[in-house]
Amino acid sequence: MPIDATQPYDESNIFARILRGELPSETVYEDDYALAFNDIRPAAPTHVLVIPRGPYVSWDDFSERASDAEIAGFVRAVGKVARDKGLVPPGYRLLANVGADSGQEVPHLHVHVFGGKPLGPMLAR
Ligand code: AMP
Repeated sequence: MPIDATQPYDESNIFARILRGELPSETVYEDDYALAFNDIRPAAPTHVLVIPRGPYVSWDDFSERASDAEIAGFVRAVGKVARDKGLVPPGYRLLANVGADSGQEVPHLHVHVFGGKPLGPMLAR
């Protein structure tokens, strides 16, 4: 069910549990600021989720509360994942859902990295 992106951070969400090592994930990349792992239900040949290590509900929350170092580290991690996956050519798509209208389901900021085939139009019209 889509979340309310203004809710306080829920320490029991699935991605918080992955960060604590309580649930498994297929790790693609990790550093002090970010963890990247394969989406459990891939929507493209490459479908990686990149999450900050800190407790942020959404892009909105992150952009407001995170430190400059956390923001820089997270943005660099997203770029590194795309490069390491060989996506720069031929290209890729980033997507971050925020709140109910977007369909955000997990209340921990995540950027989807999609690639590996032509991805079609950005949204259904
Ligand atoms: P969103 O709709 O933007 O909140 O996306 C949540 C994403 O998390 C979906 O693409 C799910 O397939 C993915 N997901 C949910 N649980 C897991 C999990 N345990 N490991 C990896 N991906 C997950």
